[in-house]
Amino acid sequence: MVHNFNSGPSVLPKEVFEQASQAILDYNGTGLSILEIGHRTPLFQDIIDEALATARELMKLDKEHEILLLHGGASTQFFQIPMNLLNENETAAYLDCGTWGTKAIKEAKLFGNVNMVASSKDKNYTYIPKGYDIPKNSKYFHYTTNNTIEGTQMHVIPDTDVPLVADMSSDILSKTMDFNRFALVYAGAQKNIGAAGVNMVIVRKDMLGRVTRKLPTMMDYRQHIEAGSILNTPPVFAIYVCMLTMRWLKEQGGVAAIEKINDKKAALLYDTLDSLPIFRPTVAKEDRSKMNVVWVMEDKELEKEFLDSCTANGMVGIQGHRTAGGFRASLYNALPIDSVRILTELMKEFATQKA
Ligand SMILES: *Cc1c(COP(=O)(O)O)cnc(C)c1O
Repeated sequence: MVHNFNSGPSVLPKEVFEQASQAILDYNGTGLSILEIGHRTPLFQDIIDEALATARELMKLDKEHEILLLHGGASTQFFQIPMNLLNENETAAYLDCGTWGTKAIKEAKLFGNVNMVASSKDKNYTYIPKGYDIPKNSKYFHYTTNNTIEGTQMHVIPDTDVPLVADMSSDILSKTMDFNRFALVYAGAQKNIGAAGVNMVIVRKDMLGRVTRKLPTMMDYRQHIEAGSILNTPPVFAIYVCMLTMRWLKEQGGVAAIEKINDKKAALLYDTLDSLPIFRPTVAKEDRSKMNVVWVMEDKELEKEFLDSCTANGMVGIQGHRTAGGFRASLYNALPIDSVRILTELMKEFATQKA
């Protein structure tokens, strides 16, 4: 039995793996593999239609927002967003609260001015900055809702009239929130919503068409909206897996239902960590992520020993990010609560042995 705590690509529901593998052999009894159907056929149109409709339903999106399924991962959005929303002489506000946000800032500077309103770099991004000011004339305010590597999460939507742009790659659809408050949301699929290769972008239409620069067709959100996300050959299989994953989420009772389970998983792991002094969670309590739980052990020898013991018990992906060290357990939607139980049992046993 494998317990997959990978940070991304990561665990998906077992039913999704079963349906996706069947579709490779024979898609819905058509005698065709999902890998060989044309992207301009009714077969694929039904898949993408269901993917977009389910996403819209799960997020309770209003008509002002469009959903796109694009290539290039979240990292392409780091530059596609300023390219589409920011003129060279204009300024966008950015929050620097982790590795991914830092990368987004670097790319935005290629297209306009960046006003970094706050940073938690001073403490290795172990907290979310608070009490900063977002200037009213900012074209938009960009932040990362969940810092996958550092294990922090923003639990409230910033209170501002400046259009909000958010990288939700690692917590989209994991908890209820008012998606209509955002001008633009983006997320690579490989954490909570499917397989690598597709990227979801939600954009409020009135944000578009305001820049003066010329946009390459493939970089222009308006062209993708016009083409219903089939401007060129889309990642057909990745979109199919994304559709299946969202269908699964809907069957579980939607975002509110999965949020309850996610809350339980996170509470179980943090409570265990807090109760055992040999483990030390690295993030400020109020900013802890419910998706990526990060901790260290003071004794590096014991770290190695605990990691070996995790591996011996079928736990995968528990080692911290190569830049952060320690441990990281990712608790995405599809991770069963039993995997968390087994990890916490192992922690208690290990702590008792070493006491
Ligand atoms: C994983 C991740 C990314 C990078 O996604 P790619 O699809 O690899 O470009 C960006 N932002 C966040 C918050 C992430 O977790």
